[in-house]
Amino acid sequence: MSDVGTPANPLRVAVIGSGPAGFYATEALFGSGLAVCVDMFERLAAPFGLVRSGVAPDHPKLKQAIQVYQQIALSPAFRFLGNVAVGRDISVPELQSCYHAVLFACGAQTDRLLGVPGEHLPGSHAATEFVGWYNGHPDYQDLAFDLSHDTAMVIGQGNVAMDVCRILAKTPDELRHTDIAAHALEVLAESKVRDIYLVGRRGPAQVKFTHPELRELGGLAECDPVVDPGDLILAPASQQELADRGNRATLKSYEVLQAFAARPPPTRRRRCHIVFQKSPLELIGDGRLQRVLLMRNRLAGEPGHQIAEPTGEVEQVDCGVLFRSIGYRGVAIPGVPFDARRGVIPNRDGRVVDGGAIVSGLYVSGWIKRGPSGIIGTNREDSVLTVNALLADLASLDVGPKPDTDKASALLRQRGVRVIGYGDWQQIDAAELRRGQAVGKPREKFTRLQEMLDVLPA
Ligand code: NAP
Repeated sequence: MSDVGTPANPLRVAVIGSGPAGFYATEALFGSGLAVCVDMFERLAAPFGLVRSGVAPDHPKLKQAIQVYQQIALSPAFRFLGNVAVGRDISVPELQSCYHAVLFACGAQTDRLLGVPGEHLPGSHAATEFVGWYNGHPDYQDLAFDLSHDTAMVIGQGNVAMDVCRILAKTPDELRHTDIAAHALEVLAESKVRDIYLVGRRGPAQVKFTHPELRELGGLAECDPVVDPGDLILAPASQQELADRGNRATLKSYEVLQAFAARPPPTRRRRCHIVFQKSPLELIGDGRLQRVLLMRNRLAGEPGHQIAEPTGEVEQVDCGVLFRSIGYRGVAIPGVPFDARRGVIPNRDGRVVDGGAIVSGLYVSGWIKRGPSGIIGTNREDSVLTVNALLADLASLDVGPKPDTDKASALLRQRGVRVIGYGDWQQIDAAELRRGQAVGKPREKFTRLQEMLDVLPA
């Protein structure tokens, strides 16, 4: 009988990624009643994934999830190994030789492309880059966003698109006391953008953003939301979608859109135009983005499954900066099966599969398991399911000699990797909080690894 999970032979799990999915998986493992040790590997020096670098700076309540993660991290059975890229600094087979199980919770690090001509012109960006930049993510600090044109366009109508619109629309005073990166605040304060187009390929009954986020757009100091009442006239199939009891949240968004459409003409300095049934056909510019050709769409298909089809009617909008916000995508890890079409690690109930066969000892949770959907809390249920699968496999994870977790640290040391432990992170965290306090912000993030290392004793 297996003794894995007993104090003599604790279940040793390597969790890859320190965002919500990684921490909720750790929480579930620690709550299993077994003796469990978790080593959490993180590519960046700072933990907390998209809660730190994805959640909008003006949504501090959502960041409170970090308090839960901090508690989990204080367990003596937990180790944080920051600044370690799995697949580069240490391989997956090496991890497998050190741990009973490896659980990938590394999220969806990149974005999807529109696939239209001109997409790579300067001035055309992924929303994920802009979000990383204003949130102080070290990968995006050297990007430049030119906000000197009066028109910006955001493609897609999910909550990320909504975040981008709001950050473009807010005044410096509305952002000054958030944890937005200082360099971003500086650029946004000089922004000349007056008109922001939030463009959906389908209609107001198919928006993906949620109504509280949409409502927020109506309460900004210097921006009016603009909706054409004519765009809210629904065909029977969309009416049927909104009448569906399971679609109440979208109905609420529709009601907010109606309230926006009924407003008097805009008077504020900026306008956010929420437009529907349009898709970018081509991005045009001489050396940089200057115009966008938009194709008008019609909706086709059954209620609940309607798709956007081009009508052939094209319009041109002058536009100097565009953000595509059409979904995140997972990135393959060397040595781990990957479904390139969906951008996820193929799995069955959280067990990694390769060509249909389960790969023993490899698990997955969060966006890299199911794709980029849901709110932070969705990852808790998702991680519990994965951990349940892992625990059900316990007997099969008992393979030969007991793993030695210190072997992983030794390998990293040999390779000269400067591992950031949780104690190191706590010092960096305290320094960020102090820097924030000095300028009236909840925190001033370090945006480069070296700045973080400089906080630590040599
Ligand atoms: P999302 O909610 O899936 O929205 C993606 C949007 O892109 C949809 O409007 C989609 O339209 C559109 N789209 C996809 N492909 C397109 C194409 N080729 N051309 C034009 N439009 C296209 O994704 P997201 O905004 O990246 O958000 C990811 C997840 O994070 C979501 O679950 C979101 O709720 C969550 N999130 C939550 C918050 C919050 O709670 N405040 C903040 C940020 C993100 P179709 O519907 O037609 O496909």
